[in-house]
Amino acid sequence: MDAALRHIDDGHGLWRYADLIEVRCPRCARPGRVRAPYEDGRRQIRFACAGCGLHAASESRCGTPEAQHDWFGPVRLQGRRPCGYCGHQWLIVNRIYQHMPASAPPRLAARCPICARDSQVDTTVHRHRGNEPRDPHLGLPLRLIEPTRHGVAWAYNAQHLQELRRYVAATQRERTRQAGNGSMISRLPAWMKLARHRTTVLKALDRLGARLLQDDAAEAPPITAERGRTARRQR
Ligand SMILES: [Zn+2]
Ligand SMILES: [Zn+2]
Repeated sequence: MDAALRHIDDGHGLWRYADLIEVRCPRCARPGRVRAPYEDGRRQIRFACAGCGLHAASESRCGTPEAQHDWFGPVRLQGRRPCGYCGHQWLIVNRIYQHMPASAPPRLAARCPICARDSQVDTTVHRHRGNEPRDPHLGLPLRLIEPTRHGVAWAYNAQHLQELRRYVAATQRERTRQAGNGSMISRLPAWMKLARHRTTVLKALDRLGARLLQDDAAEAPPITAERGRTARRQR
């Protein structure tokens, strides 16, 4: 079998690609990048739009982003308390906003199903990931998104795109013994793994690659994807 069509899942997760995310500016839609390198055990997350000048930043520990600093994605406001009138437990607030409200309401009214009176419930704000592919650090819309008739193909960056392409193109797919259920490949949606979808998915990935080259030629230095691919070829 052609060695070029062999793919080995070594178990690395999606987070391997999270150091740099190709996004669109939430204000002017211009292509941009979220950079999130590790420094002192933390990610230093930065975005600066070359078009409108929007700046965003966040900080998280060891790959588990905390709800702090800038977040442009949906948020969930949650809280609960006993009814202030009849003591019924619990009055629950669980509301999703597509964007962080300009001033997040610290308390929301909840109606008691027993006595039908409203009580104010203290809420906490959480990042809400939802199903839409987003930059995991700041919640910005991804730039590399391509709908197919089976589902939406997306990638964080050129390296991620290249790995997806190698996997989808492969006719012989293997996994190392330590590759678990958390690997980027194992978490791909089923429709991307089907051999009969190969041509469609490859076309979508190629369109994403072409868009990246086009945008890069227009305004940024090229990404050295080749280096990343070589580094991951560990047998
Ligand atoms: Zn902008
Ligand atoms: Zn009540």
